[in-house]
Amino acid sequence: MRFDVLTLFPEQIESNVHKSITGRALDKGVISLNAVNIRDFCGNSYGKIDDTVYGGGTGLLIYSQPVYDCWKSLWGTQDDKPYTVYVSPKGSVLDQRKAKELSSKKRLCIICGHYEGIDSRVIDKICDEEISIGDYVLTGGELAACVIIDSVSRMIDGVLPNEDAYTNESHMDGTLEAPSYTMPSDWDGMKVPEVLLSGNDAAIDEHRRIASLVETWMKRPDMLDKLEITESEWQKMLAMRRTL
Ligand code: SAM
Repeated sequence: MRFDVLTLFPEQIESNVHKSITGRALDKGVISLNAVNIRDFCGNSYGKIDDTVYGGGTGLLIYSQPVYDCWKSLWGTQDDKPYTVYVSPKGSVLDQRKAKELSSKKRLCIICGHYEGIDSRVIDKICDEEISIGDYVLTGGELAACVIIDSVSRMIDGVLPNEDAYTNESHMDGTLEAPSYTMPSDWDGMKVPEVLLSGNDAAIDEHRRIASLVETWMKRPDMLDKLEITESEWQKMLAMRRTL
């Protein structure tokens, strides 16, 4: 999958994505990254990219034309047009379902605003959707773009060791992952649940399924509304809760 990022700070994107798991995916060629500086398309010799907002207000807004020219420079024919996202606090909030959906695209273009943002007209003209990474305002879209690239990349074949590495995780099936533990089995008087040391796969799966429901109930009760929990599961959850 190819990521194109339109930004005023390409080095901020590159330094993030070239690290750790996404960095290795880039090295292996499973994903590719093209971070382009919108300022290179400003069309003037002094690099002016923004101006005051019509109607008044503090701050500067990035012009439409350089964003449009930068975006058009990425593709030749209509067939090449990348799926285009503007990262914005006004967008729908990113979740695991959206990351999974985006991971099926061949190309994803992410446009980052800065300062007051970007003239709305070019966003309306070229963007397929707006995505937010949460209900707060960042100074620029670069961190949001990196969050999208990271969450999308890990669901692309070849980025993680296998599909299990991302399917058995929080939010994949509407629950949170069960608590997990590593050695030692007794740390500071806190013992790992016996069943996890038993080697009995069926019992471990059942324990994790109920523990995952309990974790969701305790930490994100709002998520329980969307789950269908049977009477027998509730009994097991209550019993496990009493042992915590
Ligand atoms: N004036 C804009 C508003 O009130 O909606 C906020 C502009 S913000 C200071 C600058 C840029 O940061 C935005 O154009 C957007 O690209 C990015 N940004 C800010 N908050 C974001 C969020 N929660 N999610 C994704 N991008 C965000």
